Amino acid sequence: MKFFKISVCIAVAFLAVQCNDDVENSIEEIQEVQPQEVSEEILNKLKTIGFNVSDIPVTSTKGGVVVERDIFIPYSNLEETNFNKQAFLSLMSCQNSRDVKIKNDLGDNAAGKALNAAILRWNSINSSILNIRTVTSGQDITIRLDGGRLATNTYGQGSFPSSGKPGATIDINLDASASVINNGGVLTQAQWVNVITHEIGHNIGLLHIEQASFGTQIATTVTDDPRSIMRIDTRDIVGLTRLTTNDRTAVRTMYSEFNNSLCK
Ligand SMILES: [Zn+2]
Repeated sequence: MKFFKISVCIAVAFLAVQCNDDVENSIEEIQEVQPQEVSEEILNKLKTIGFNVSDIPVTSTKGGVVVERDIFIPYSNLEETNFNKQAFLSLMSCQNSRDVKIKNDLGDNAAGKALNAAILRWNSINSSILNIRTVTSGQDITIRLDGGRLATNTYGQGSFPSSGKPGATIDINLDASASVINNGGVLTQAQWVNVITHEIGHNIGLLHIEQASFGTQIATTVTDDPRSIMRIDTRDIVGLTRLTTNDRTAVRTMYSEFNNSLCK
């Protein structure tokens, strides 16, 4: 905040002869309201609740954060977990769900090697008609490197079904890092399996469970599923080893031969 210090000094210099003393006082006051580091996790939670965190900086203050300039939220409120049910934004047609073709354009790296295990997770859901396979042409989904499109702390980005077809792209940021995951190091192959499983989840329709209110909640799932692959925070999913019962129930409800299957 050196720049700020200097400009304060100049501003005060016009008003007061004893610049130094005034500046010291001013700076102390100013520092109390200076923006401090607010973790990505807290920003994500605020965003999920619906606050504007991109246009107006969130500032950290004693015991909580200030959002949208004048709303104080205690940290204790943000610690409460408010998980929703599994939910979807849009669906593939039943027919398309039987043969989802994905082309692996990731190359020979930890993420590229993780794709098959991610596909297997979705293909291993009993009584679901969902089946995903890799192809080299004629794909529905292309999984590729992001080419700089994603933020440095964003690991992947899926897309949602439209016109009954799966989301067309999955971008993977191989170099992504966040201090809270692997101390800022890149992901391992096992961790990429989870991220890619999550992104495929979007491409077949699933929303983040915390954002269920944006879409259609799946009545057969329960509201508290802390180990769902569709949790919003990458930190919560990188260590997972399987889909939860709710994740599987969601897909079975969306894509099956049962009469109550949601796909058309
Ligand atoms: Zn996601």
